[in-house]
Amino acid sequence: MSKVLGIDIGGTSIKVGMFSTDGKLEAVTKIPTGEIVSEAAFAVVTEGLKALLADNGVTPDEVIAIGLDVPGPVDDDGKVGMLANIELDPEGLQAAIKRTFANANLAFVNDANAAALGELWQGSAKGANSFVLIAIGTGVGGGVVANGKLVSGAFGAGGEIGHITVNRDETANCGCGRKGCLEQYASATGIVRAYKKACAAKGTEPVELSGPTDTLSVFNAHRAGDEAAVEAIAQMCDYLGYAMAQISAVTDPQMYLIGGGVGGGFNLYAEDLRNAFRKYCLAPSVATRILPASLGNDAAMYGCAYQALLERG
Ligand SMILES: [Zn+2]
Repeated sequence: MSKVLGIDIGGTSIKVGMFSTDGKLEAVTKIPTGEIVSEAAFAVVTEGLKALLADNGVTPDEVIAIGLDVPGPVDDDGKVGMLANIELDPEGLQAAIKRTFANANLAFVNDANAAALGELWQGSAKGANSFVLIAIGTGVGGGVVANGKLVSGAFGAGGEIGHITVNRDETANCGCGRKGCLEQYASATGIVRAYKKACAAKGTEPVELSGPTDTLSVFNAHRAGDEAAVEAIAQMCDYLGYAMAQISAVTDPQMYLIGGGVGGGFNLYAEDLRNAFRKYCLAPSVATRILPASLGNDAAMYGCAYQALLERG
């Protein structure tokens, strides 16, 4: 039986899902890796893949597509650009996998784009022709699907929603080196920063936070009626809704999906976000639905597998 693999490449390990060709996740494994830049490191990956298959009675020849999602830009031709947060030699790894899995089509996909494709294949966007996934975690990532196809861009920067400028007067730098990006306000880091700032302005004591991205505590404070938390989340929704209105003026999607860690608190801010979007968008776009993503951390693993399968034709 033909199988598809989705490989989610992280900093210290990779997570691999084995799928049927109709998108059923049949097995998952995690393979600890360090830097993936040497033949020895590539072998750790290919041996791990072979072990997953052997455990499930599948031979390497049955694998027809393998997707790999990476935290960095990938252009329309599947070429991986500069990876800032991970040590990976994409060409070397690709060659090593190709040697072991001769029948498989390989595809690299940007992680947020992959998450969007995952939601399209088996998640909240199943059957949708146009939608935008906004993945909110430490940063803000995005995946744009228009006319049933992912828009990764001529230079791999398609869907970089986190770096839409939403405040031209900002003086602090974003991670990208520019100022006033959506990510500075709507990421987990941005929400926690806004909460602390609101507490300072009110002269109130912030709730205990486990770190600079602990939005869970801010959400809980919101539920308990903490005014600074209410303000911080209202600000996040205002900036995010504003950015979404700009996106709608370009691709006018059927729906937005909110994913990533902050997506987990969706119900808490859904109304605020919908109101902010409607406040800023052009009249025809008010019908756009805003929903939570449904595949959680597995979305990118699904999506890169799907892309590899699609490209195989
Ligand atoms: Zn930026």
